[in-house]
Amino acid sequence: MTGSIFHLQRFSLFDGPGVRTVVFLKGCPLQCVWCHNPEGFSAAPQIMYDAARCIGCGDCAGVCKNGAHAFTQGVHVYDRSLCTGCGTCAAVCCTQALSLVGRQLSVEEVMAEVMKDAPLYRESGGGVTLSGGEPLLQADFAIALLKECKKQGLTSCVETCGMVDADKLMQAARFTDLFYFDYKATGEEMHRKLCGGPQTPVLENLARLEAIQARVVLRCPMVPGANLCPEHILGIAETAGKYTCIHEVQLEPFHRLGLGKAGKLGIEGMYDTAPPARAEIEHYCEKITGICGKRCIVS
Ligand code: SF4
Ligand code: SF4
Repeated sequence: MTGSIFHLQRFSLFDGPGVRTVVFLKGCPLQCVWCHNPEGFSAAPQIMYDAARCIGCGDCAGVCKNGAHAFTQGVHVYDRSLCTGCGTCAAVCCTQALSLVGRQLSVEEVMAEVMKDAPLYRESGGGVTLSGGEPLLQADFAIALLKECKKQGLTSCVETCGMVDADKLMQAARFTDLFYFDYKATGEEMHRKLCGGPQTPVLENLARLEAIQARVVLRCPMVPGANLCPEHILGIAETAGKYTCIHEVQLEPFHRLGLGKAGKLGIEGMYDTAPPARAEIEHYCEKITGICGKRCIVS
């Protein structure tokens, strides 16, 4: 069995206990306007094109069987609609103006990479975190990875947007020590507008994790001018207070790193604004803890 992976990040200290390897799986059922990993939207392999690095050598046009690269009066035009994501052009691009995002890896290949840091996991209580995209969109592959982590005695975390098949979520939960569960907006209207999908199934899945008393951290992106408003802060606090499975809230201040990647992927319509001041987010943390009584931190 293989999965579509866009990044394997070793030595992470922010996505669960101890030292971790984060496995980023491609594909997501939502499309949040502030996403910092837009290369995770599509499950298919994609070309990232950085025009600033292109020297116009024409090698890509020479190897592409689909004619996706053309030169019009010396200007390089890349037609994404003709691209099948085979990666041949990226392999010959000497300036790395082109790069292929996404590759098929087997469970064994991922675990071989993961186990390079086995001594660090043992010393730190670390392990593997599945992220994305939405890792449970490739549910069978994700569950196979989680099972393998348990076999190897590693801690396992899953970062999820919650918009996933309920049965698969329950299967994954059997092999997951900690869920980072997104709470992105308060109310159907805000969720649909900002995330491109409904909130009701997300909250139903949170209730399912509550029913089995999974261990959950509620993760909340804080995006000025989009979801950052008193109603949403209250919504976060009430949700954290309602579910006993949630033991911590993490507020994630918006940053602009996703915008550059979106541009190179030809993705339009991403939201842009200045990141919020840390002091402001810390103030919201205090408010949330004051209402729900749970620890709330800026992540
Ligand atoms: S191979 Fe790379 S540097 Fe050469 S034209 Fe294509 S994108 Fe530009
Ligand atoms: S990835 Fe393949 S199909 Fe797409 S532009 Fe490059 S060579 Fe052509």
